[in-house]
Amino acid sequence: MQEKYGWLQIDYNGKKGWIAKEYVSLKTSAEKPATSAAGLTFTVQVDLLNVRESSSLKSNKLTTIKRGQVFNVLKQQDLWIQIEYAAGKKGWVYSFYGALSEGGNVTEGSNVTAQKADSKSVQTIYNGTNLRTGPSTNHAVVARIDAGQTLKTTGEENGWYKVTYNGQPAFISSTVVKSANASSSSRGGALSGLTIVVDAGHGGHDGGTVGTRNTLEKHLNLEVASKLASKLRANGANVVLTRDSDTYLSLPTRVSISHQYAADAVVSIHHDAHADRSVRGFTTYYSNDFQKPLADAINGGLKQQITLPNRGTQYGDYYITRENTRSAVLVELGYLSNGSEEQILRSSQFQEQAAYGLYIGLLNYFK
Ligand SMILES: [Zn+2]
Repeated sequence: MQEKYGWLQIDYNGKKGWIAKEYVSLKTSAEKPATSAAGLTFTVQVDLLNVRESSSLKSNKLTTIKRGQVFNVLKQQDLWIQIEYAAGKKGWVYSFYGALSEGGNVTEGSNVTAQKADSKSVQTIYNGTNLRTGPSTNHAVVARIDAGQTLKTTGEENGWYKVTYNGQPAFISSTVVKSANASSSSRGGALSGLTIVVDAGHGGHDGGTVGTRNTLEKHLNLEVASKLASKLRANGANVVLTRDSDTYLSLPTRVSISHQYAADAVVSIHHDAHADRSVRGFTTYYSNDFQKPLADAINGGLKQQITLPNRGTQYGDYYITRENTRSAVLVELGYLSNGSEEQILRSSQFQEQAAYGLYIGLLNYFK
């Protein structure tokens, strides 16, 4: 099969055509028939696993089964297995989420001691998350999995987690998962147990504001966001970066990440511009009244740490704060339209101070 730029050449009714690879699933030319699997058992190794009507992630969910439960395997088909999940009731599960063993029959659904996770566990954030054969998007997709699935990692490489896929190594980008370790919140630190979403504004084809020296806002936002994230993590917070590379994310996606994690605080980091090039200073915005205390605390933290003029806490009609049910604020750290301020904003010293100011603000807010 020919493949170019993510498109696959296919034969359809004797004619050749192209189809976008992301909309198809690959099968070996002769699809493997289901084989019976007498004597095999399946032990669930994730907290919850969907049992489906047929061997496809798109088929109807029949029920869910739990970590540690053991089932007799009736059939195997590719990466799927058919189990008897209740007396006389059959369904399919993705074999990746458990362990297959030869060990005779068990009473359906019996519990065994759940294996204690000794490595880091991560949970997928998005539906249709790709598992790949290697640590980059250039590697082939071996499976697509739903949001909320927990995977054990066995290593990390270039921002990708190595996970075990049906006994074979597979890779998942660290940007599409969150930590699922119960122990991560008991690490200690002033912010332990709190989930903070750090949102670097813009990204990818959306560069944000452009400075007088052509500084792209998106890069500065990410610098400060990364610095803030490491300070928060060092103090025990569970930090979710909406992006940790130069990628595009829509505003609704940023808001749904805030909701999905039930974030205790959301900080969206931006840099400003004004037609009047003399305008300078930093501003902290909120859209809903319940977000004002966080905006005030963050403004107070920034005021202590950076020397730019303080334009205060203000109401602002921004999507990420307006549509957010969590305590979310948007910070404009300074004006790229002002040449001398742009120079300050570009310095890593300022970025470090700004991140520290945001961090102090968050500490005070949660105190
Ligand atoms: Zn912006």
